[in-house]
Amino acid sequence: MKEKVEQIKTSIEEDIKNVKTLQDIVDIKAKYIGKQGLITELTKNMKDYSIEERKEVGKIANSIKDEVTEIIAAKEKEINDAILNEKLSSEKIDVTLPGLEIKEGAPSILEKVIEDFEDVFMSMGYDVVDGPEVEEDRFNFELLNIPKGHAARDAQDTFYLKDDEILLRSQTSGVQARVMLQHEGKDPIRMICPGKTYRRDDDDATHSHQFMQIEGLLVDTEDISLCDLKGTFEEAAKKLFGNDTTTRFRPSYYQFTEPSVEMDISCFNCKGSGCHICKQTGWITVGGAGMVHPNVLNMCGYDANKWHGFAFGFGAERLAMLKYGVNDLRAFYNTDLREIKNFDRREEN
Ligand SMILES: [Zn+2]
Repeated sequence: MKEKVEQIKTSIEEDIKNVKTLQDIVDIKAKYIGKQGLITELTKNMKDYSIEERKEVGKIANSIKDEVTEIIAAKEKEINDAILNEKLSSEKIDVTLPGLEIKEGAPSILEKVIEDFEDVFMSMGYDVVDGPEVEEDRFNFELLNIPKGHAARDAQDTFYLKDDEILLRSQTSGVQARVMLQHEGKDPIRMICPGKTYRRDDDDATHSHQFMQIEGLLVDTEDISLCDLKGTFEEAAKKLFGNDTTTRFRPSYYQFTEPSVEMDISCFNCKGSGCHICKQTGWITVGGAGMVHPNVLNMCGYDANKWHGFAFGFGAERLAMLKYGVNDLRAFYNTDLREIKNFDRREEN
């Protein structure tokens, strides 16, 4: 037995000297400590020994097994270290190679316009409110005084998801109805709602099946009048388009406001003398507005005898196009970065 152990020790010393690869290690493990290994062999005929002898054999076998395992582990580590060092030296980073170019982005000007708008109205005490893009017919049309079958729906044909009841909102005004109902006719409201809207329009330079609206609503006591709307618009126009901007209202018609107006600003390009942007008129139409129709107030839970309000809406793309000289609305939505890059103007502060 002891002879055998000595033989194994000598043999492993010899074998270890010749180890060069991890495969050699695998082979050595199999040869000595595997199921058919030499050390396992030592304990094979245990049943022929007496109890005392078995103990002795077991002890010797375990001790040699530990010893051999240790020798193999040390060699394995040595080989692994060598492999790692080899790898490290062969994969050295060449610091003289040119680096990867990281493209620097800039805020989308559409986003910028909306943020500017939010800043202006938040400074006047308005809340910024969000609402669902998938909307019920009730909020998108009916509560806004556009019942089923009304001709005004034709201009706002949109995408229907379920029968005639669930649709992609054609305007953000539905959020106004939602907010009024939430307040149950009790509190004054000042809110704006920027967001995506959808219409079944063919895409061209000034139309898109998806575009952004920024709507606003103020509801307060009966003291609120068209003068307040004019003052609010004048203040916002000066902040958004410059202090020398003047404003005017032109009569218009919307179903949810009465009276209704178109909102114009003096041309920021020619200052009123006439140019291609204002089509020689000196004025640019930027949005629509009006006093909230009594039907809308009543349907949304506000007693029109006690509460008055005004609402306004702007097209975010139109504002961005005017402000940044973009001549095709599609530029905001196509994925050609070269085209978008042209409009990535950093603000000059
Ligand atoms: Zn002009």
